[in-house]
Amino acid sequence: MFDLATRDIKYISGIGPQKADILNKELKIYSVLDFIYYFPYKYVDRSRIYYVHEIDGNMPFIQLKGKILGFETLGEGRQRRLVGHFSDGTGVVDLVWFQGIKYVTSRYKVNEEYIVFGKPTLFGGRINVAHPDLDKPDELKLTSKGLQPYYITTDKMKRSYLSSPAMAKMMANVLQQITEPLQETLPEWMIKEYSLMSLNEAIRNIHFPSDSESLRRAQYRLKFEELFYIQLGILRYAKDRQQRYRGFAFEKVGDIFNTFYTQNLPFALTNAQKRVLKEIRQDVGCGRQMNRLLQGDVGSGKTLVALMSMLIALDNGYQACLMAPTEILANQHYETIKQLLTGMNIRVELLTGSITKKKREPILTGLVTGDVHILIGTHAVIEETVQFSSLGLVVIDEQHRFGVAQRARLWHKNVYPPHVLVMTATPIPRTLAMTLYGDLEVSIIDELPPGRKPIATVHQFDNRRDSLYQSVKKQLAEGRQVYIVFPLIKESEKIDLKNLEEGYYHICEEFPDYSVCKVHGKMKPAEKDEQMQLFVTGQAQIMVATTVIEVGVNVPNASVMIIENAERFGLSQLHQLRGRVGRGADQSYCILVTSYKLAEDTRKRLEIMVRTNDGFEIAEADLKLRGPGDLEGTQQSGVAFDLKIADIARDGQLLQYVRGIAQAVVDGDPTASLPQNDILWQRLRALRKSNVNWASIS
Ligand code: ADP
Ligand code: MG
Repeated sequence: MFDLATRDIKYISGIGPQKADILNKELKIYSVLDFIYYFPYKYVDRSRIYYVHEIDGNMPFIQLKGKILGFETLGEGRQRRLVGHFSDGTGVVDLVWFQGIKYVTSRYKVNEEYIVFGKPTLFGGRINVAHPDLDKPDELKLTSKGLQPYYITTDKMKRSYLSSPAMAKMMANVLQQITEPLQETLPEWMIKEYSLMSLNEAIRNIHFPSDSESLRRAQYRLKFEELFYIQLGILRYAKDRQQRYRGFAFEKVGDIFNTFYTQNLPFALTNAQKRVLKEIRQDVGCGRQMNRLLQGDVGSGKTLVALMSMLIALDNGYQACLMAPTEILANQHYETIKQLLTGMNIRVELLTGSITKKKREPILTGLVTGDVHILIGTHAVIEETVQFSSLGLVVIDEQHRFGVAQRARLWHKNVYPPHVLVMTATPIPRTLAMTLYGDLEVSIIDELPPGRKPIATVHQFDNRRDSLYQSVKKQLAEGRQVYIVFPLIKESEKIDLKNLEEGYYHICEEFPDYSVCKVHGKMKPAEKDEQMQLFVTGQAQIMVATTVIEVGVNVPNASVMIIENAERFGLSQLHQLRGRVGRGADQSYCILVTSYKLAEDTRKRLEIMVRTNDGFEIAEADLKLRGPGDLEGTQQSGVAFDLKIADIARDGQLLQYVRGIAQAVVDGDPTASLPQNDILWQRLRALRKSNVNWASIS
């Protein structure tokens, strides 16, 4: 038999160079192996044929058998459509086409028998089936039990006659040509112990299930394997690194920490902050390199935890560095930290893109000599020219804005890798964190500092703007400040900017007694900073902005957050925005403004926002509603693999289960040398070479 991984699909009879070219370009399918790992996204039971009198508008895809009585073209312009009146003698349904009218009328004949396949809907009191599949009964080949695979195809594929049925046909053909059983990719003992279907059976059944039970088992086997290898890769990588890299041991908590704790700390730590600090202390003290994710809702006091961790580094003779995603945030951290360290003999410096060369030089020198203890900055801190004398700890704020590659560069700042603490206010469900962040340990601050009033969130339709402005005026009259946020999305940038400008003028008119500032992502940094500063200092009472204010900005006097077109934001994003208010002692409000007409899942999203302030609950809900691909931060943080069959949102339990198995394998075979696991390590090496960039996951 040929080698599936190296056999080019263009040599397969029934595919050929032309189709192969399209498969290459559209689906990145090159080898036979790629092809048979292109799984159907759904199956439809086509064993049953319904009668017209049985169906209603709520059924899924169904089949009917009968004849077209006649065609008719209805409507004008975009409403123009072809209707074929179809009957099986028990009733009539309308088959509807909005496109390809010529093609349909030339291809399908009146009074000939067809099997119609499609989704019935009720429209104008009649059952409609839009763009149905029509087949002659004798040409339609159904699998034995009627479960038909459906493959995702692109427009380009469809235009080249590579539709889903064509893919199914090619798949059947290819699988038939693979005469020997597929080589197993899991060890014998695992197949036995976890009662898995063999790979050979699983691949064949995933395309052409012999029945629904076999399909279920095939799916389970393939998901199991997919998730298992991801976890095995992550845990193997973690183990190797653990064995390879010693970390700096911060053995003591010394004068600097203690002075700060007893003299400078303006309030008592929350229990959650204490617990997390203890976790960090243990981690940095044990001689291994720390890689820890610190999750905590906006306002939960992560900065303080970061600072105190940095002080531990200083106590042990090391320098520390804090990276923020934007200049504004870096500035704010710098100001906050300098103030918190007042009177202590610690040199803190700020390094951002706009620090002039003249100012930069002494900072760079100070870092090399060790005179600078704490460096705060943006991406600028990881430039080549920045050298430390002994960098012991790096804190990264809002990690998802940093590219994976940038994080990796930190490693080259030192002989040993510094400890890394990543802070994020985007709570990530545990299952996702396990996959995204792999071997990162996770600490969670699940408690807000005392005295905060929960933010009151309301959903308001945009036709009630008058009453909305009334309540805003009341807040302004009491001396509070207000954010008004507009969406700004790349795809609709021009329109969005126009909306923002209009909104800005409208607000200026509506609130003539107050000063309004404006910030959006298209502004020059200097201009942006200037506007931002107006709001921070209280010279402006209203800020009209796009999501640039999303991250970190702290204005305790701001008590109202109005989010326009709230339906266009993701849940996590809404939650982040909401976190901009509620930072002072006053009651704060978040008002989600939408039009009256909303899709069902949008309504659900907004309901969740109104119901809860708990970021983790919101993140879980977001994951369920939208899937991980769309989850805020997932794209940027670089999920280094794409899943072919498993779904992190739905297969969370299986993920946890296989992670346990993978952990046991790694622990039981720490040097990757047990013969019974040969297949595992070989396969892992192969996977690492192909699609998965493991190094980028940590
Ligand atoms: P995060 O970065 O997690 O969003 P911050 O670190 O900016 O939150 O903290 C939000 C605010 O809460 C800051 O003004 C900070 O000084 C304050 N804060 C932090 N910890 C405490 C605490 N234990 N008690 C009271 N206030 C606190
Ligand atoms: Mg913060």
